[in-house]
Amino acid sequence: MNYHSTTVENLINELKKLPGIGRKTAQRLTFFILSIPKKEAISLARAIVDLKEKTKQCKICFNVSDKEICNICKDERRDGTVICVVENSWDVIALERSGQFKGLYHVLGGALSPINKIGPSDIRVKELLNRIKEDKIKEVIVATNPNIQGDVTALYIAKLLNPLGTKVTRIARGLPVGGDLEYADEVTLGKAIQGRTEII
Ligand SMILES: [Zn+2]
Repeated sequence: MNYHSTTVENLINELKKLPGIGRKTAQRLTFFILSIPKKEAISLARAIVDLKEKTKQCKICFNVSDKEICNICKDERRDGTVICVVENSWDVIALERSGQFKGLYHVLGGALSPINKIGPSDIRVKELLNRIKEDKIKEVIVATNPNIQGDVTALYIAKLLNPLGTKVTRIARGLPVGGDLEYADEVTLGKAIQGRTEII
């Protein structure tokens, strides 16, 4: 379909690139944006530009942050002896919502997946190992997703940290198997953290 406007077509094509957005939804969003006050549309565009220009990765935990060191790593009330290892930044948001974890995080940036050729050097395990060696970490809770890749990653981390004598636990089952952490409700996630068990 052609709207006789390259500008309209352009936005439709950009929105179509987003996950879960097909041509029809992209069209609807485009005409919605066309209908809202200019101020609101600019504020939306600005938020996207800011997201790319103003955010960075925390130097310690690799969570998304506006500063060099994120608010969680900076918070002295949190328990600096426990690190919860997650695949992505959005998992941190999910776990924070559960209110059951008061330690620090480590964002791997993915999970091991031999099929997709994602090995240890593609995720931040070396950085995790360095943190364990440098800081006084008593326990590492592996909260990777409850699927094959998440399990493989958890076992790899447990074997890697075993010689250092650090306790490595995995959050409890009871989460929907094969699902992602972000889809679990906060009560289920809270229970999964409380019911964690040692891997090796
Ligand atoms: Zn941080």
